[in-house]
Amino acid sequence: MSRYRTVIGLEIHVQLSTKTKMFCSCSAGSFDAEPNTNICPVCTGQPGVLPVTNEQAVEYAVKTSLALNFEVHEYSRFDRKNYFYPDLPKGYQITQYFYPIATNGWIEIEDENGNKKKIRLRRLHMEEDAGKLIHAGDSMKGESLVDYNRAGVPLVEIVTEPDISSPEEARLFLEKLRSIVRYLGVSSGDMEKGALRCDANISVVDEETGKSSNRVEIKNINSFKFVEKALEYEEKRIREALEKGENVPQETRGWNMKEKKTISMRSKEEENDYRYFPEPDLPPLVLSKEYIERIKQSLPELPDQKKERFMKEYNLPRYDATVLTSDKDLASFFEEAAKLTGKPKEVSNYIMSQVLRYMNENKIESIYDTKIAPEHFKELFDLIDSGKITTNIAKNLIRDILKTGKSPKEIVKEKGLEVETDESKIGEIIKKAMKQNPDAVQQYKNGKKSVIGFFIGAVMKETRGKADPKIVQKIATKLLDEN
Ligand code: ADP
Ligand code: ZN
Ligand code: MG
Repeated sequence: MSRYRTVIGLEIHVQLSTKTKMFCSCSAGSFDAEPNTNICPVCTGQPGVLPVTNEQAVEYAVKTSLALNFEVHEYSRFDRKNYFYPDLPKGYQITQYFYPIATNGWIEIEDENGNKKKIRLRRLHMEEDAGKLIHAGDSMKGESLVDYNRAGVPLVEIVTEPDISSPEEARLFLEKLRSIVRYLGVSSGDMEKGALRCDANISVVDEETGKSSNRVEIKNINSFKFVEKALEYEEKRIREALEKGENVPQETRGWNMKEKKTISMRSKEEENDYRYFPEPDLPPLVLSKEYIERIKQSLPELPDQKKERFMKEYNLPRYDATVLTSDKDLASFFEEAAKLTGKPKEVSNYIMSQVLRYMNENKIESIYDTKIAPEHFKELFDLIDSGKITTNIAKNLIRDILKTGKSPKEIVKEKGLEVETDESKIGEIIKKAMKQNPDAVQQYKNGKKSVIGFFIGAVMKETRGKADPKIVQKIATKLLDEN
């Protein structure tokens, strides 16, 4: 066991994909829109305006809370968090500080070996997003531009207990959270686009002395990979400082993508005093038991439940079920194809190898954005079962289908991929290989029967994998035995 134990807690902002903003009717979705076109007097903080709470945002927040095993409170309230920054036109952010909508939740994570662990969630509260500063003006003059399209977009903030013990666990946690909000349809969960943002707190405990380092906060991490990388960097930095007996200052650090390291931004002492007070322009948020119960009943099947069901219903190994249910689209595509073909494990194999590799290589997020359809699997398996193509050919076919969407039959015909069953043709190839490799033939004669694999390989190479393996085996055995 290592002498040092890592302690991590996360604070995550999830952007809700409501049609309109948190407290006004401006569009909340179109981030590609021209800057400052989705704004109004409310979200730009003009004097005399009144905010109105977005019902859909409340519903999404409750959904998220229930899916994360939170206790949802019938009474919660909005507060003002006061600070000055150019991306915050009102001079304050409406948030829930004193009475959050939900407390005491948890998420279960599972590592590759199937070890499960519960991460406790301290609270979930609703708030509005700020605008965006764009440092794209004449930087020599220190110019920055501001876009208020994002100001007032609804967020939920989720705060974990410091239950996470490694950078890897932090990534698993975020992946699980993203998967859940996508299943719920409450957020795109897209970290790269800022729909899911994470601040990570880390400290290291010396188990021998029981002493803990100060806590460091890492901000501005915008991908799953970087969360893990930034935490690994910081874990190492703090451990090394402890080993040298140095003090680790409590501070906020930023992740520098280019240099792959964290950089000090400010010390904790400079922290603002936000002067929180109850938002006078909004009534408290009061939810009935019935309302909360109704939303609970409407929750869709979530990743963990789906995983257990896939293992039972389709007899899949845990690993397959975990991968397939990590993404909602992947899971539903798999189910369609499994039902259609009656061959769940085969479908899973093709999806987990060829399909996911293709999606990764081409940065495709949803399987529905490729050209493959569940029907293609049916046709492909029929071709294999009737002996028209080999499984080797089938693997290559998948790539063509993913790219072109053509039917397997069509591609087989076009490319001449049908199984080679012509015994005399196969026999000729083997004879040629025997002539060219007398050593191998001698080895076979001496009793090393496994050498037959060499001749089978030669036929497969010559026919580009199209030869019927059973026939090749039969003829190779015959020719070698007769020799
Ligand atoms: P603050 O009041 O400074 O915001 P909180 O207690 O609210 O601190 O915690 C903020 C985040 O820091 C939470 O996600 C929590 O889990 C995490 N955290 C708390 N203590 C530690 C620690 N010793 N090491 C790492 N993370 C921690
Ligand atoms: Zn507005
Ligand atoms: Mg706090």
